[in-house]
Amino acid sequence: MERCPTCQARLKDAVVCPRCGTEIIVLQQIDKLVAQLQYQAIHSLKQDDLKGAMQAVEQAILLKKQPFLITLKNFIHHQAQELRRQRLMVCVKTFLAEDELLS
Ligand SMILES: [Zn+2]
Repeated sequence: MERCPTCQARLKDAVVCPRCGTEIIVLQQIDKLVAQLQYQAIHSLKQDDLKGAMQAVEQAILLKKQPFLITLKNFIHHQAQELRRQRLMVCVKTFLAEDELLS
């Protein structure tokens, strides 16, 4: 971080902002955690673990509400809806096939 997110003072390598006292190291740790959660969400999504992906992205959003994370959450939600729709279609087709066999 080059500037303090609270007061915009130049930081150089300070761990505490010399102007307002914001603890920069804590913010850096939060950024790192958000990046890890974002990676975890994308990794879970790649593994078709939509529940795990949603949990990770929601935790990341609680820490930092970034536009990319919101978009990722919406994408995961859409994927989950699509999966439910596909499962429902399989049930309907199975039911119709069984119904046809019985009649
Ligand atoms: Zn500051």
